[in-house]
Amino acid sequence: MIRVKNSIIPFKGFKAITLWPFIFFREEMNAVDWNHETIHGRQQIELLFVGFYLIYFVEWIFKGYDRISFEKEAYANQDNQDYLKGRKVFAMWKNK
Ligand SMILES: [Zn+2]
Repeated sequence: MIRVKNSIIPFKGFKAITLWPFIFFREEMNAVDWNHETIHGRQQIELLFVGFYLIYFVEWIFKGYDRISFEKEAYANQDNQDYLKGRKVFAMWKNK
């Protein structure tokens, strides 16, 4: 993925946002941060981008940020650098 450091995207208060194939970021990122964003990249490919953004937005409105399926998967697995090697399709909607 292509990493783009800048001071516009994402909005202030957020550290990074993945808009595949780009990861836009404002501040220093560590390995865990990169892994988190790369997991979102995989989710986006899987849902053909538009599906990801629609579902993400709807879940954010109705459930709140902490309960977005995509965020739950990314936070739960961001410490595992090998996570994407064994990840199953649509893992964000599968029970662990
Ligand atoms: Zn995230």
